[in-house]
Amino acid sequence: MNATAPAAIEVIGLTKRYAQGKPAVDSIHLRIASGSYCCLLGPSGCGKSTTLRLIAGHESASDGDILLENRNITDLPAAERGTAMMFQSFALFPHLSALDNVAFSLKMKGVGKAERHAKAKDLLERVAMGHLADRKPTELSGGQQQRVALARALITQPRVLLLDEPLSALDPFLRIQMRAELRRWQKELGLTFIHVTHSQEEAMALADTMVVMNHGVIEQVGSPHEVYNRPASEFVARFMGGHNVIETPEGKVGVRTDHLQVLPADQAVPDAPHTKMALITDVEYQGTYVLLGLQNPGTSVTASTTAEISVMLSESTFAARPYAVGETVQLRWAPEAAHPLPH
Ligand code: ADP
Ligand code: MG
Repeated sequence: MNATAPAAIEVIGLTKRYAQGKPAVDSIHLRIASGSYCCLLGPSGCGKSTTLRLIAGHESASDGDILLENRNITDLPAAERGTAMMFQSFALFPHLSALDNVAFSLKMKGVGKAERHAKAKDLLERVAMGHLADRKPTELSGGQQQRVALARALITQPRVLLLDEPLSALDPFLRIQMRAELRRWQKELGLTFIHVTHSQEEAMALADTMVVMNHGVIEQVGSPHEVYNRPASEFVARFMGGHNVIETPEGKVGVRTDHLQVLPADQAVPDAPHTKMALITDVEYQGTYVLLGLQNPGTSVTASTTAEISVMLSESTFAARPYAVGETVQLRWAPEAAHPLPH
């Protein structure tokens, strides 16, 4: 981001307390670049929706400030902020046509029928829905409904579009189609999108910038590549998946499941640096790769044992030397594959 260009959204020491105890959002700082796709990611209850509602003005801040393009909007009513919200499953009014759905907020503002219909028609044309303006939501496909919802959010000419789990109620196939379309519209419109999701996969697919939250604080901000390859904490490594958290004499490190090598016990170098002995408890064929589950040696394996470490081997590596449950092996990793995980 250009350091001198104003951020689309800047959040400074933002806090929300609903009740006594730990705040739902705890003094967070964040800059979101203009024209970027930002995903707020984290487990249920970590404060994602609260952060989004604070930016939207649907919730008042207990402390801190929110700037939109350097304008302090912290105490402005929602309608005057320059933000718009798109809700879960698009939340279209079922009894209204696409055109009237899009025109709705202008109607609430008292804009005359001819003018609001002209504006709504314009926006529907922009999202390639002009020819279906008279249809009701039930007469539209999921993708078409999403475009109507987008047009409806855009009619207030927001600078920033806020989306709270917009895809989570869709079936998996439609969800993947719709996220590709959201990403396309964001680039085409050149707007800033802030999208809340609890899905790592969705955030990785969409985001220019990912903001990983936990317990009301931000654990890490970065591109999907940075966050996936250099998790800043044990929480991020575990939450993003695809990583092992391994205890070493230097402290905990994160190593990707596909960055661990497996050596049969007779080839092990005892106590070599960047190695660990482990017992295979699980072997799963996954198509292009085989997933090994492993435990510390000495663990007695029962049906309820869950793996502490996962290793992803390519199908060909596994075929060259198959491993079986119960075998003890040495895991080895390159020093540069291990990332320190501070507490
Ligand atoms: P997320 O969207 O990440 O799942 P939320 O922002 O909805 O999380 O909630 C964060 C925390 O604040 C949770 O502990 C939740 O129970 C609490 N919370 C959210 N909304 C309210 C509310 N209106 N009143 C009281 N507590 C709330
Ligand atoms: Mg939420």
